[in-house]
Amino acid sequence: VQGYSALTASASGRTVFAAQAEANVINAIKTGINFSDHGDHQDVGVEESALLPVKFEGQRPGHVVPHDDHVILFYDREDKAEIVDEAAILEGKIEKRAVDTIKAHHGVAVTLGRPVLVSGPNTDVETKADELPPRVGLRILDDKGEQVGDIAKCTDLHGEATSARLVAFGCKEGVLVARPGGADGPVVEMLPYPAGFPKGYTGTLLGGKAMQFFLGNYGDDKLVIIDPEEKEPYRLVELPTRRVDFVLDNANPRNAYILTEDGNLSVLDILRAEIVRHAKVTEPYSKDGHWRDPRPRLAVADGQIAITDPRHSLVRIIDPQSLKEVRTVPVEGQPFSIVAVGGSGATH
Ligand code: ZN
Ligand code: ZN
Repeated sequence: VQGYSALTASASGRTVFAAQAEANVINAIKTGINFSDHGDHQDVGVEESALLPVKFEGQRPGHVVPHDDHVILFYDREDKAEIVDEAAILEGKIEKRAVDTIKAHHGVAVTLGRPVLVSGPNTDVETKADELPPRVGLRILDDKGEQVGDIAKCTDLHGEATSARLVAFGCKEGVLVARPGGADGPVVEMLPYPAGFPKGYTGTLLGGKAMQFFLGNYGDDKLVIIDPEEKEPYRLVELPTRRVDFVLDNANPRNAYILTEDGNLSVLDILRAEIVRHAKVTEPYSKDGHWRDPRPRLAVADGQIAITDPRHSLVRIIDPQSLKEVRTVPVEGQPFSIVAVGGSGATH
């Protein structure tokens, strides 16, 4: 890679995308992990990983969103996003469908069946050469790329996640939830933050895999657990200090893990909306400074938590029960972004 890279694994785990905002390129890496369906069980195959020959070029690639058999790439300094087919990429080919994003902005696009949900920029404001316009809402595009209905209000839209068949977006006024709907396409609903909540809003979201819920930030030092089917969808969780990263445990859907800037790793029980235990796992990493300064990031794999520790050139492996370090993986340079791919399956 040519500098800072944000990593995103595809839904299948067969490909990892490295979006390099400054180098205007997204590289695709074959992980070498392969699953095949054998009826009552899955087989897993493990081959060498490799940098794939295809790459995606565009001005300032930003958010990469995996979904089913494809990935959606967003370019902040262009008026386009691209829906790319994973199987083609693995064969060294590019098959893509373009999405018109109207005007350059730091946005995101997500597919919901054939329709596409895409952030809408404010097209009325004048922006300086090095600035991008704010986001004002969400647009729904049909399978021909035509906008359906009006833009749904979502001030400063940032953060998206899919859980079951719902897609959620963070906004200043609440979390906007889109459902597949019927023949008329997706239906969106704003879940306003409760009146009694402190000042804050959601800009990062994660979606449950085995349970339908969303976990989002609420400002720097709080989280919200969101159940869109509930009359009162929000439960607020206070953190000891500002969060550095948080992640869900797909194999153990009750658990989320949060690293805070004091170096503490906390286990959140999603059902109880409570931090049930915590322990110090790294030195403090302040959130002050540039957002891109190397700080730890989390991933979950094989019942263990992996934490990058850029200051020590290590990946620390933590047991989620005891919160004790079980081993470390030395790496060159400053490990930062991390994703986990793989799973279990038979080999026979
Ligand atoms: Zn088999
Ligand atoms: Zn962003």
